[in-house]
Amino acid sequence: MKTVPILRKSQLLSKRMDITIHVTSVGGCERQVYHKLHERDEQLPSHFTAVRGTMAHTLIERCIKGNDIKASLDKPFEDITYPKLLGGRGDNSKITERIYNKALPFVDTYMKNFETWISNTDIDLSDMLSEQKHELNYRGIKLSGTMDLHDDNMIIDFKTGKKTSNKEHIQQLGGYVWMLKELDIANIETVKMVYLGKEDSQMKDIEVDLTGKLPEGKGMFIGNLHKTIETYRKAYDLTDKYELPCKFGFMCGLCGWRHRCSGI
Ligand code: SF4
Repeated sequence: MKTVPILRKSQLLSKRMDITIHVTSVGGCERQVYHKLHERDEQLPSHFTAVRGTMAHTLIERCIKGNDIKASLDKPFEDITYPKLLGGRGDNSKITERIYNKALPFVDTYMKNFETWISNTDIDLSDMLSEQKHELNYRGIKLSGTMDLHDDNMIIDFKTGKKTSNKEHIQQLGGYVWMLKELDIANIETVKMVYLGKEDSQMKDIEVDLTGKLPEGKGMFIGNLHKTIETYRKAYDLTDKYELPCKFGFMCGLCGWRHRCSGI
């Protein structure tokens, strides 16, 4: 087995000056934080479910920015290279291409649902910002979040899973709302999830209004954000062994460090 590279204290301290926590990883696995700090370049290529989500979000962004759904759907990926699609991670092009091809039929369903949704929604999308990244300096770290669509009072988030309104989604939206308020960018009053993985018979539920869940979401997010920041501080002090607990669960299958971990 390959030896795990351990960073010296001085190297870790220089990383300490540059911590970015993404809204979507708040409240995640503590051991994953350790791996991120100590083995940042050792991740496996993205998991299939993440690849198909990235593909769908890339197309949706194009459709919304270009207002040309048909053109995007007809020739969806001819200018997207695998490394770009996978965020520059992974060098096993055979596996990547296999996963890419496996993802295509799913993406087709997502985009058909997206087309149905955008043709029927009465929400005015014309002034909404698409895939806008925001960063907030908070308690010595940088919190980063990219919202699919938002304006001054609404956030719309697209999901490719089938499970609607789960705890993670509510927490994530609560985090976005809190972050935009802290940055003095927007005072969000309405949040909606659009679930693109639905089958035809479920299309009536594709858009779910989660506005009423916002106080619960914000509370969960802030509580878990403080725990995650504390986890990063603990992880800096570890040098040659894993002491952060494994959060064994279905997320291990998607984790970039699943090859390093007995968690799966
Ligand atoms: S494989 Fe599972 S336990 Fe290990 S770091 Fe990833 S999420 Fe955590």
